[in-house]
Amino acid sequence: MSTLSSPLPICIAGAWRPGRGDLYHSRYPATDEAVACLHAASLDDVEEAVQGAQRAFDASGWPQWKPHQRARVLYRVAEGIRARSEELAQLQRLDNGKPIRETRALVASAADTFQFFAAACETLEDSVTPSRGDYLSLSLHEPMGVVAAITPWNSPIASEAQKLAPALAAGNAVVLKPAEATPLLALELARVCEQAGLPKGLLSVLPGKGSLIGDAIVRHPLVRRVAFTGGTATGRHIAALAAQKLMPVSLELGGKSPTIVFADADLDHAVAGVLYGIFSSSGESCVAGSRLFIARPLYADFIARLSAGARRLRLGDPADPLTQMGPLISAAHREQVEAHVARALEDGGRLLCGGERPRGALFDRGHYYPPTIVDGLDNQARLCRDEVFGPVLAALPFDDEADLIAQANDSVYALAAGVWTRDAQRAWRLARALQAGTVWINTYKQFSAATPFGGWRDSGLGREKGRHGILQYMEQKGVYWGLNPEPLPWTN
Ligand code: NAP
Repeated sequence: MSTLSSPLPICIAGAWRPGRGDLYHSRYPATDEAVACLHAASLDDVEEAVQGAQRAFDASGWPQWKPHQRARVLYRVAEGIRARSEELAQLQRLDNGKPIRETRALVASAADTFQFFAAACETLEDSVTPSRGDYLSLSLHEPMGVVAAITPWNSPIASEAQKLAPALAAGNAVVLKPAEATPLLALELARVCEQAGLPKGLLSVLPGKGSLIGDAIVRHPLVRRVAFTGGTATGRHIAALAAQKLMPVSLELGGKSPTIVFADADLDHAVAGVLYGIFSSSGESCVAGSRLFIARPLYADFIARLSAGARRLRLGDPADPLTQMGPLISAAHREQVEAHVARALEDGGRLLCGGERPRGALFDRGHYYPPTIVDGLDNQARLCRDEVFGPVLAALPFDDEADLIAQANDSVYALAAGVWTRDAQRAWRLARALQAGTVWINTYKQFSAATPFGGWRDSGLGREKGRHGILQYMEQKGVYWGLNPEPLPWTN
């Protein structure tokens, strides 16, 4: 566990030492108390980490290790995470304020991700392609070199594992920049990787400001690819830098995901699923189901049940296993969420529940905000267009399916969608018609490392997860192996 008595070391090119940037604190959002102090990375540290990663890529032999040998290390990382799971879950609770039941699930999912990519690594196949001449032709994949991973504060360790596991499985070196606000889990993950036998220098972790450290990593000429999760504006900036370098990027960005409840839905399941979809993680989730479309005949009844359910959610101490919603990440972020709600009310919205900071000793020092539901707006309203990234749901009635699909798809975002209905044919029509990287039918926010994840339009570029997620971190190569006993005819 971290300490406040001396600055935490960070992981730079195989050495653990304080960064050379500014001293800052990671704070517990439930109490605003400092949890750890550390020096951020400096620009010199970026240079050292990237050069060290390139050296480790060139000299450690990791890219040449056979896939089953790299897989062995990744399996050990999965076990290393599991062996420390409770400690890591508690640390993550302190680092970003999520309830302990959620951080336990995130730690477990990070271990599963390493296990999945270990298996994918040792079973990945190159191919012999159909030959059109006297040669054997092959499609092969090679590691890229130094890859950058940049992650946000909302799901540390799970976001990091999603990038590190496939990038390392592919044989690359990685420079990881976690969110400035939540550096602790990325650093612990580097320790687990080191103990699992990852060659030294192959992974560096550089906490620090995105606009300085993240930017310098992306611009570095030795960085061959960037895997980014975060806001759409930052994603655009990174994509523009990558275009200058002709470097591939994957971008997992924001969302304004529609959830749709038809009149024939199982209402108990739908109420529970909608509440979970928007209010788990206090709404600080890229896939939060933040626009709710309800069939008009059901509207009044469903909204009443939903509001009653939202009021019953347990908002409070993240250390309590019964807590469902913890604080928001920071005071500044809570103010932004409040500003979204104020604008929604200015636009004519009606507050059905929440909308005011909770009172009482438990809430005094933390950045708490209650589950909030607003209706009375149309799909063009700011609350239905802008990502809030907090526990705020906009509810709207709908009349017919065609109009519903048009409204659901009318967003710059296209990350996820949810459909609640008992009609299998309608479920299938919606699953195909909704423009989104992920569609959930009669469930929400379920994830598998085996299923590709990503967004369309302003929600992102590229896919993570899935067996072929490793290939995103590899360059493809064609090999032609001549078999003709005669010289090529042109030379005759
Ligand atoms: P953010 O401000 O874009 O930050 C994300 C990461 O990028 C942080 O590590 C940040 O560093 C860094 N960064 C900031 N400016 C940078 C720059 N110029 N160059 C390189 N790196 C830079 O996003 P956030 O507020 O932390 O996270 C919330 C957003 O992430 C939401 O929009 C959410 O929807 C999205 N998200 C998407 C997914 C998905 O899978 N689609 C998952 C989770 C979250 P600092 O810490 O210093 O800011």
